[in-house]
Amino acid sequence: MQSMPAALWIVATPIGNLGDFSDRARRTLADVALIAAEDTRHSARLTRHLGIDTPMVSLHEHNEHARVERILESLAAGESVALISDAGTPLISDPGYTLVGAVRAAGYPVLAVPGACAAIAALSVAGLPSDRFVFEGFLPAKATARQARLGELADETRTLICYESSHRIERCVLDIAAVFGATRRIGLCRELSKLHEQSVVLDAEALGQWLAEDDNRRRGEFVLVIEGGPLQRRDGAEIALDDLLGELLALTGTKQAAKAAARLTGAATNDIYARALALTAAD
Ligand code: SAM
Repeated sequence: MQSMPAALWIVATPIGNLGDFSDRARRTLADVALIAAEDTRHSARLTRHLGIDTPMVSLHEHNEHARVERILESLAAGESVALISDAGTPLISDPGYTLVGAVRAAGYPVLAVPGACAAIAALSVAGLPSDRFVFEGFLPAKATARQARLGELADETRTLICYESSHRIERCVLDIAAVFGATRRIGLCRELSKLHEQSVVLDAEALGQWLAEDDNRRRGEFVLVIEGGPLQRRDGAEIALDDLLGELLALTGTKQAAKAAARLTGAATNDIYARALALTAAD
């Protein structure tokens, strides 16, 4: 990397199987002068596995501001630096946002070595609408705050992706059932790309029961992929957009169907037209 100008490399690491590490990611970690890692002891296992001895410094939520100066010094000295987190893509429910902003402000390039991200892996296997989605990160840990946040999200019509820990997964799903309704479909993706990988898609209430039935189902790391809420008709009655579009598309062309659905639901014609195109393409 000597021939390249000093840069900050944002390197994704595997969320499960270390064999998923790309050769480019390995070379980047080997070539930079310094690796900033969320937990240096955890990441030392990865670098040992890769046969890399690049010096490491910690960068976590409690020291990120202080570390920015140290990393800017390396860049000023012409040295490239890589940022990794414990697993997956840095900055996605992980540290790095402050650092990336500071490095950009100082005028150095920030480059991505993309790879695993649990949210995207879950979305890719859940089979729920993936054309539009919202990433919510971790919902609040306390029940009252979690229910309040879910209340704010109840009208979201796009697919919603959340991270959740093993000790809260069941209560979180019960709260979703209570706030979004028992029949809202949820994809639960557990231990993605690991030995005990498991993905199920069930109605919210049924998923709560499924989790309660077996302790093993509450073990490991989780992503929830939650079906978007139904659109509201102007009179307040709920209607599923795909059902409405399906009926209209059987009667008329895509443009007319989208216009009619937009009038009935009050949603943006462009959004509805895009959905109508996706539905006709899928037929
Ligand atoms: N930056 C990471 C990424 O790109 O996915 C996420 C870091 S966040 C601190 C960790 C959370 O991601 C876990 O609590 C879990 O919700 C989710 N997660 C990470 N790895 C996972 C896996 N293999 N299977 C399911 N969920 C996972």
